[in-house]
Amino acid sequence: MIDIEDIHKLIQEFLCTPGCHECCQNFGVPSRTRVEDERIKTFLRSNSMQPGVAQGNSCPYLNETGCSIYPVRPLICRPYGTSPNYLCKMGVMPLRLLHEDEESEIFQLYQTHFF
Ligand code: SF4
Repeated sequence: MIDIEDIHKLIQEFLCTPGCHECCQNFGVPSRTRVEDERIKTFLRSNSMQPGVAQGNSCPYLNETGCSIYPVRPLICRPYGTSPNYLCKMGVMPLRLLHEDEESEIFQLYQTHFF
């Protein structure tokens, strides 16, 4: 059985430009699966936090310090900046971008095991 975190590990982490939330301000509520929704609810409960409220096109989980659910953000939030299809507007990226085939494989695994 594959865990959602196994899929997360296939996407390289990198340091965003401090204070930039460009990719969280334009796409509204991020799509998520039932498993991810449960992870977010558990995280909010264990941190005594309330679900966010959507404002315009901004993600409801974005606050003044950034993503309030960063450790459990859904998969759709994670590829930004890491592959040619999700390039960061600020030009920030990890040392190696994912190949398009790797990106396809990640979304294939996600759909196969979590939809
Ligand atoms: S969940 Fe977090 S990372 Fe994803 S769009 Fe919202 S604020 Fe950004």
